[in-house]
Amino acid sequence: MMTDFLNDPRFRDLKPFESRVWLSSPTMHGEEQHWVDEAILTNWVSTVGKNIDVVEKECAEKVGRRFAVGLSAGTAALHLAIRLAGERLYGPAPANQGVLRGHKVFCSDCTFDATVNPVAYENGEAVFIDTELDSWNMSPEALEKAFSLYPEVRLIVLAHLYGTPAKCDELRAIADRHGALIVEDAAESFGSTYKGTQTGCFGDYAIISFNGNKIITGSSGGMFLTDSEEDAHKIRKWSTQSREDAPWYQHEELGYNYRMSNVIAGVIRGQLPYLETHIAQKREIYERYREGLKDLPVVMNPIPAETNPNYWLSCLTVNPEALCAQVRDERRALYITEPGKSCPTEILGALAAFKAEGRPIWKPMHLQPVYRNHVFITAQGVARGRSNAYIAEAAAADNGAELFRYGLCLPSDNKMTEAQQRVIIDIIHRCFE
Ligand SMILES: *Cc1c(COP(=O)(O)O)cnc(C)c1O
Repeated sequence: MMTDFLNDPRFRDLKPFESRVWLSSPTMHGEEQHWVDEAILTNWVSTVGKNIDVVEKECAEKVGRRFAVGLSAGTAALHLAIRLAGERLYGPAPANQGVLRGHKVFCSDCTFDATVNPVAYENGEAVFIDTELDSWNMSPEALEKAFSLYPEVRLIVLAHLYGTPAKCDELRAIADRHGALIVEDAAESFGSTYKGTQTGCFGDYAIISFNGNKIITGSSGGMFLTDSEEDAHKIRKWSTQSREDAPWYQHEELGYNYRMSNVIAGVIRGQLPYLETHIAQKREIYERYREGLKDLPVVMNPIPAETNPNYWLSCLTVNPEALCAQVRDERRALYITEPGKSCPTEILGALAAFKAEGRPIWKPMHLQPVYRNHVFITAQGVARGRSNAYIAEAAAADNGAELFRYGLCLPSDNKMTEAQQRVIIDIIHRCFE
């Protein structure tokens, strides 16, 4: 059944927000305008300029890596990072052939598809590694299992979900034991630390994103991070169509148009001084949800010991005993509301009806039609292309599917007021009435 929330007796006395409360929208401070204007007034309106230089330097310093290269998107940064890793492992690919040439790559399963698509761009075969519930990131046990099944694998693509660091030490130790490289997708976790070290420092290559909904944004943009000057040069060259040092356009390798714009870099430059402010705001939002929802049969996304997340998105999962009937096909969802119970579909529907934006947890990659025939490995073993129906029964062995089934991302916008958040917390309570 689909509820008409505005006329449902549980909600009838509530009014929608006057202006929408977003999941996570850009939060501008004014300096962005200054640096964008300066770029335009000085005519540095291309992929060269002071804003790019400053932003690269500041990002490298913040994260604690020697070099940063500004790119057009986090996805572009991931693509070049994966290409670089592939070249180091398997040698340069002839033009028009992916550098991974059919090799398997172990990838985070519960993430945005931008994490893993570049593996396919380079003709690699993504093998999805299940999630652990302690951090909602790649499970070290499942990764170990994966190496026992495919000891020849040499590359891992690892994401930090919603700003919470993965178990970096454990994962790094496993990678080292098997001689594998790590590409670290810190797109969502800029400013988060694990045992005092910033995410973006754990991968052989790492990236962050400045997409419009990230904690620091340029409207778009991404950053490649490395400690090797040679790698930084290579990425800069590839991102500008691989032009050789010659009097004409000389190309000896495949290139891309992936460089960051100096105008975009102006937005990022104005944002960077506010990273810690944004983290503090996001943390308060998380704490208020945790406090406000503690009497409900739900739990917030975990904050593992020894991590300081950036709290990019606050999430919850409904406890299994409090989940009402909910089914999803590939495109739609239905549920049956029940007193004392609710489900992500109902909560997201109620929030939307009152003009607040939530989102389901990332649907795991192994459940995505585009990747459905790929191998998926849990701590218990291997599974291939499963249907949703099977997942429902086997949920205990598939943490990613479980998070997708029980979880959702809550409105986590920096600009959400305390009063608005109180109403959102109230709406969630009413879902369980
Ligand atoms: C946003 C995001 C990306 C991609 O970044 P873009 O800048 O949007 O290309 C990659 N991975 C994860 C986990 C993300 O959340």
